[in-house]
Amino acid sequence: MRFLLAFFHLKAPKSGREMPAYYRSALSASTVLLALYFLASLLLFWASYRRWEVVPVVALTAAVVCRLNIPRTGPRLNLGVCMAVVILWCAWYIHMFGWSAGVQHFLIPLLVLIFFNVYEPPALKIVYCLALIAFRMGLFYYALSRPAVHALDQRARILYQMVNSAALYILLASLFIIFSTSIQDTERQLRIDNQELHREAGTDPLTQLPNRRAMTDEIHRFLSQSPEPPFCVAIADIDFFKRVNDTYGHNCGDYTLQTLAAKFQEAAGDKYKVCRWGGEEFCFFLPGLNLDDAGMEMHALCAAVKQMPLSFEGHDFSITITIGVAENDFRSPVSAILEEADRKLYMGKNSGRDQVVI
Ligand code: GH3
Ligand code: MG
Ligand code: MG
Repeated sequence: MRFLLAFFHLKAPKSGREMPAYYRSALSASTVLLALYFLASLLLFWASYRRWEVVPVVALTAAVVCRLNIPRTGPRLNLGVCMAVVILWCAWYIHMFGWSAGVQHFLIPLLVLIFFNVYEPPALKIVYCLALIAFRMGLFYYALSRPAVHALDQRARILYQMVNSAALYILLASLFIIFSTSIQDTERQLRIDNQELHREAGTDPLTQLPNRRAMTDEIHRFLSQSPEPPFCVAIADIDFFKRVNDTYGHNCGDYTLQTLAAKFQEAAGDKYKVCRWGGEEFCFFLPGLNLDDAGMEMHALCAAVKQMPLSFEGHDFSITITIGVAENDFRSPVSAILEEADRKLYMGKNSGRDQVVI
């Protein structure tokens, strides 16, 4: 029932748009296979009762013309012609050889082509489907109500059935392979694109560190997996960074941020996470660490940054950072713990910078 509702909610794209590539391939494959089938039927008729029939020649020509026309006139017109050819073929075939030759099954691939055509609205697809059912029932009634022009004997019936069944199954299998692989391919590509978009949305373009959003997601994910763990957060801010920009230029400021980010990333390893919190501020998430351990990590980092040589366009300089560290108190929300770290950072700024406040 849900499938049916979902089907009726499908929206057909505006007409005039390009058909999906897989549909073109499906139609091309169908026209080629039908042409081969019409050729096989032509030879079969000649072999079984020594007559060259005009109808398979016409059908063969139409299938070849459709195949050649797809790149020029597009799939839509050729789909219509192709379906008309198959419908007329079935009617003629049953008139000539009766129901037992099994040609009526060729209406099934038409149903597949109708339902995989994204450019028809669902209601129209249902109408086409009902029309095909009515046509098939009409053919059956016609076949019962009058004898075939060429009554098939047992051997011929088996032969005709075999040719029709083989062609039908090859055609259906080709359509299913094309449609199913295209759906799987599209889904896989969408998943890859989605992951890439998600990664880009959570990455700071200058430093390639995770951004504030990715970091808060990470903290909440950690908390949802283990609700009562010890953890600390820390916020670091470059001291007098404005001076770096003012003295050596904005590009030098960018270079400093990138070098510092690489340093943070290297120091963090698997022990903790670091992100660019915004501007010249960075945030650290230290899972499993208490305030003392986190403080030691941050002290080491603060000292390492002070020692870090920086050189841009012939100018050698160094920077210092101030860090505020706060511990999970098992009561406050994450935002309050981050605010606490921020408050400590500004305590550090007010008491001389280049230090860690825990
Ligand atoms: P304090 O020690 O009090 O933190 O002083 P400060 O100079 O670091 O702080 P302030 O907030 O006055 O200046 C921060 C500067 O960081 C100003 C802004 O131009 C610079 N900044 C922020 N983001 C970027 C960036 O992406 N690239 C560059 N080059 N500069 C940035
Ligand atoms: Mg700042
Ligand atoms: Mg600063």
